[in-house]
Amino acid sequence: EAARDGKRWATFNPASVEDADWAMSLLARLDHAIDNGELWVAYQPQFDGQTKALIGAEALVRWTHPEKGQIYPDQFIGPAEQGGRIERLTYFVLDKALAVAGNVNRGGRHFTIAVNLSVPLLSSDKLVPTVERLLHKHKLAPELLTLEVTETSTLGSAEIQIANLEALSALGVQLSIDDYGTGFSTLEYLRRIPASEIKIDRSFISMLNKSQSDRIMVNSTIQLAHSLGRKVVAEGVENEEILQELQQMGCDIMQGYHLGRPMPWQDLLSRISEGEAF
Ligand code: C2E
Ligand code: CA
Ligand code: CA
Ligand code: CA
Repeated sequence: EAARDGKRWATFNPASVEDADWAMSLLARLDHAIDNGELWVAYQPQFDGQTKALIGAEALVRWTHPEKGQIYPDQFIGPAEQGGRIERLTYFVLDKALAVAGNVNRGGRHFTIAVNLSVPLLSSDKLVPTVERLLHKHKLAPELLTLEVTETSTLGSAEIQIANLEALSALGVQLSIDDYGTGFSTLEYLRRIPASEIKIDRSFISMLNKSQSDRIMVNSTIQLAHSLGRKVVAEGVENEEILQELQQMGCDIMQGYHLGRPMPWQDLLSRISEGEAF
């Protein structure tokens, strides 16, 4: 756990703490943490499944707490959503991620950046103008931004959510359905959400080399997505065998510890400059 990003940090473990207390104390500190520079963004590389080239990254928020050490998003995203603090956090990450992506693409590159978008934010009328403003601020072409929304039962249930997703899509932003396969992945669902991509949940990927049923599921999901004109990203690629299986299945984009852990932007930048491929 402490070596999750390939670095050793003291990691705070809230297991012994009452959930509610934990959430409260975190929420109380979140705004301060942003002001104080305790939040930062790690980038996990993404590779083209066929050309093997490093083609983009997913932005993942990190909180380095002065006393508690490294706190992972699993521990504060949920509370932030419930406590009405997710907006500022999301736009903080988006601003940082678009800044680095804008810079790296200045030299005529085509490097994509994926940012996670909490489902509650999809009901905000500030979402689309904010995304538009930040793209403009950092001079990033909209098609280089992918917004990942987690597949849940509530996603796409409200008119405003669909309207916002369609407006983002009309801007040229790519949409990705994250954790695909864990929720309500029906054909109807794929039709309703204007996503250009699905991201198969890592629970299906991590046992791919050992489980025949997972192999069948993933393979048929890739076929289905392709037949609907969607790209497929595999997350949680943890070893060479899985990588090769996915390549044979025609998976479009690969991401996982085997190819690179989330890392500070400077580290990723040197790998981009070296023209890394797997
Ligand atoms: P996610 O979007 O599904 O992100 C993938 C998570 O899997 C990341 O954990 C990543 O570090 C981890 N991971 C990547 N490759 C591997 C692998 O090969 N094996 C294993 N076991 N894990 C791998 P992380 O960074 O702790 O993020 C957890 C979740 O927190 C994310 O899940 C996402 O739902 C949420 N999150 C992270 N950053 C943000 C953010 O900026 N905004 C929002 N709204 N949510 C965020
Ligand atoms: Ca994600
Ligand atoms: Ca995911
Ligand atoms: Ca997730």
